Amino acid sequence: MSLANEVLNLAEQYRDDTARNLSKLVQIPSLSGQERDVNAELASQLEQAGFDEVTIDPLGNCIGRLGNGPRVLAIDAHMDTVDVGERANWSFDPFGGEIRDGFVHGRGTVDQEGGAAAFVTAGRMLKELGLKDEITLLVTGTVMEEDCDGLCWKYIIEESGIRPDLAISTEPTNLGVYRGHRGRMEIGVSFRGVSCHGSAPERGDNAAYKAARACLAIEELHPRLTPNDFLGKGSVTVTEVSSSGPSLCAVPDFARLHLDRRLTEGETEQSAVAEVEEAVRGLDARVEVLHYDGKAYTGLEYGMSKYYPTWVLPADHPAVVEGAAVSEALFGEAPVVDRWTFSTNGIAIAGLHGIPCIGYGPGNEVLAHAPDEKVPVDHLVRASAFYTLFALRMAQSAR
Ligand SMILES: [Zn+2]
Repeated sequence: MSLANEVLNLAEQYRDDTARNLSKLVQIPSLSGQERDVNAELASQLEQAGFDEVTIDPLGNCIGRLGNGPRVLAIDAHMDTVDVGERANWSFDPFGGEIRDGFVHGRGTVDQEGGAAAFVTAGRMLKELGLKDEITLLVTGTVMEEDCDGLCWKYIIEESGIRPDLAISTEPTNLGVYRGHRGRMEIGVSFRGVSCHGSAPERGDNAAYKAARACLAIEELHPRLTPNDFLGKGSVTVTEVSSSGPSLCAVPDFARLHLDRRLTEGETEQSAVAEVEEAVRGLDARVEVLHYDGKAYTGLEYGMSKYYPTWVLPADHPAVVEGAAVSEALFGEAPVVDRWTFSTNGIAIAGLHGIPCIGYGPGNEVLAHAPDEKVPVDHLVRASAFYTLFALRMAQSAR
């Protein structure tokens, strides 16, 4: 029997375990910054699966290690989820973790604890199939992604000194091989004015009017942004306008815009800031990239600039080619090679640190952050087979 078939058979044998593990994770609510209990459960699943070492780092990331080889493969799943939203829009209990009709149901099944359940099983299979010390496999159940994508991996790389040679993100790809996504940033633009009594506005300098002119300039900037065939065009829009002054009967002496900027290939922090500065020139504006200040469930305070760089691997990058080859060996046909619409921890792994990253994950991204989120058990089985064969082939090539 081929190695691929052996892996696939074993993944089938563990089908129910994989689904049950996901069900257990889903039953533990885990909003960003509140991942303590879900990561305790994940740690126990990793231990039961036979990982050589399971640790929780100071930020609260759960990290399982298998093997001790020189080449390091990381497989990442963030363990926090968004909230359920309007409960009436769900036709089942978002925290029920029901397994029926070939799906695991609930918040986090697609985005994205399904990836974690699949890598737990992959570790178990790799132990059984005899992955020795050719490579080191790290699986990471990471925190705070929904609030600040990449923060957890910035911590792992910069503070814990862990630098994998290659990473697989298990964010939902519908079992396609993904190779990047647009980046993003949050920009603040503030305006100063001079207040005066609202009954005689000509005596002052109204900061709100400067912000209003800037809003229209930003509206005009958006269609001028550069198109991109693969990732899609970047975007810029005003998401919040505010002003303040001594009273509601006074001309405001301060105003502020909050901008959401999506970045495509070739657009950088510098280029995006320069475009905004150019758009608001003459309005005496201050343009700044905002900062995220986070507090983990462990109590650790750790933040980063809200610049989440674009990343994309070329279609012929060895990691992309190998991902497609693994999928084809297992399932007999070439996978869809594509990109995510949303942003992931890849912004830190590949975007900030240049570590090659591909995506392969169970579930359809259209159900991320949506009601009635559910993942096919078949996807979990196939993803566990994919991670296993990918690691085995990486080990073989290291021999
Ligand atoms: Zn996600």
